Amino acid sequence: MSLPKSVDVVIVGAGPAGHTLALSLHQSGCQDILVVDGQHRTANTSRAAALHAATVEALERLGLADRFVAKGRQMQSTTIWTKGFSPIASAGFRSLAKNTKYPFILGIPQHVSEQILSDAAKERGIIVHRPLRVVDLKPHAHDNTLTDVIFENGETIRARAVVGADGSRSTVRSICGVEWNDPHGEVNANVVDDSAAAANMIVADVTLTAPPSLRPDAINLVIAPEGQQNALMIQYLPGDPYPDAVPAGTPVYRIASGIPAALGPPPRAPEVAYLQGLLDAFGPQHAVDGAAPLEVEHALWSSRFRTHSGIAGAFLTSAPGGAGPVCLLGDAAHIHPPMGGQGMNLGMRDAAKLGPVLARYVQAAKGGEAGATAAARADVEAWATQRRKRALEVIDLVRTIQSRLWVPNKTEYIFGVLPYNPAWIQFSVLSTLTSFEWFRSKTAWAVSGLGDP
Ligand SMILES: Cc1cc2nc3c(=O)[nH]c(=O)nc-3n(C[C@H](O)[C@H](O)[C@H](O)COP(=O)(O)OP(=O)(O)OC[C@H]3O[C@@H](n4cnc5c(N)ncnc54)[C@H](O)[C@@H]3O)c2cc1C
Repeated sequence: MSLPKSVDVVIVGAGPAGHTLALSLHQSGCQDILVVDGQHRTANTSRAAALHAATVEALERLGLADRFVAKGRQMQSTTIWTKGFSPIASAGFRSLAKNTKYPFILGIPQHVSEQILSDAAKERGIIVHRPLRVVDLKPHAHDNTLTDVIFENGETIRARAVVGADGSRSTVRSICGVEWNDPHGEVNANVVDDSAAAANMIVADVTLTAPPSLRPDAINLVIAPEGQQNALMIQYLPGDPYPDAVPAGTPVYRIASGIPAALGPPPRAPEVAYLQGLLDAFGPQHAVDGAAPLEVEHALWSSRFRTHSGIAGAFLTSAPGGAGPVCLLGDAAHIHPPMGGQGMNLGMRDAAKLGPVLARYVQAAKGGEAGATAAARADVEAWATQRRKRALEVIDLVRTIQSRLWVPNKTEYIFGVLPYNPAWIQFSVLSTLTSFEWFRSKTAWAVSGLGDP
């Protein structure tokens, strides 16, 4: 399909952030948009498998919450299992019922979420042009408030605004020369050492020979046995996320585990034997009374992660030498480890909030009245400042979750003589705190994103 010469907004990247923005712009009356993606089709792997209440609310405003809820599983709590303690229910999401219609974490694989977004976009006449890769941005020769978007195939299109929703290695971000830093700079992504606990993680979707004796509507975190420092998460994935690989109705489980430095870097896509080794070492059998060891049958998808964070220096920029707004959102603007399942959620909410603001900017800029355009642009700037602040808060939240769970479960000595076990101290405190409703509610609130302004 040939491209128009100009549009109001070009969205680079048709992942969850790009799709959500397209839908939000469309709903806000900005329908002259072009969505492009460098890939032939979307990835069909589960990746981010949780939607939080605030994201489901954002989807409700787009008229899509019911579709998501119908395809997902309502997870009621996060349960921490550690030998010697009763299960610690750190966040019972029912407490959110006074704040939201969606008092749960919705377990739903990313490719299912992307399919729902893509179907909704098609219904509204939004087409994703694939494969179409952006390689450069330049100010338009006669009006530098417009941006020429240049594609790999040599085509060019003029846009009033450009949005880079093109993932963590964002081309748009690098063309615009926006900095990308780990806000804490703690974990060097290229080095695996003892000081970088959980510098590597793996995530995998598997079938098991027998179901685990854990609640299927809980996100289960198992703390490593004595002598180790690790945590392993196991969660049931709803529906039939891999219809081509296993028969309908086969239970599929998401496993995520830190990789202790002593094991060395994990393979890029760990297979059954590697995953089995992790379950043998860190699975529920050592912490959950009566739990049998779990046996991996099939590895349907797996990936390794570095647990570092990254944030763009600015979420609003422009093409070099230009003035037209270029926004960054989703993974192009921020990344962090998957603990707490925040990344994709944050990106989708960035997008849902940007839609109405950018639509107003486009409308004002087309009207040509300088004051109205400047005021609308100031609103885009406010969006960028507020979303960057929010991303930093989420990065801190994830860091806190990580530091609470990756605690050495081994005897250490104060002044070389007084023995103590950091994990026992940590989980005694957590066990006491989680017996209070206010603490459980506070934790559920933080994870839900409902405080996201
Ligand atoms: C292997 C893997 C496993 C993950 N697992 C988890 C997990 O377990 N839990 C979790 O919370 N999160 C996980 N994530 C992260 C989660 O998938 C992301 O947060 C989410 O996909 C971000 O959405 P996005 O729309 O911002 O970017 P993306 O989904 O990355 O989409 C960006 C899109 O931009 C396109 N693009 C890139 N460059 C260009 C260009 N120059 N021109 C045109 N198009 C371009 C790409 O083709 C892609 O479709 C995982 C990610 C990966 C890659």
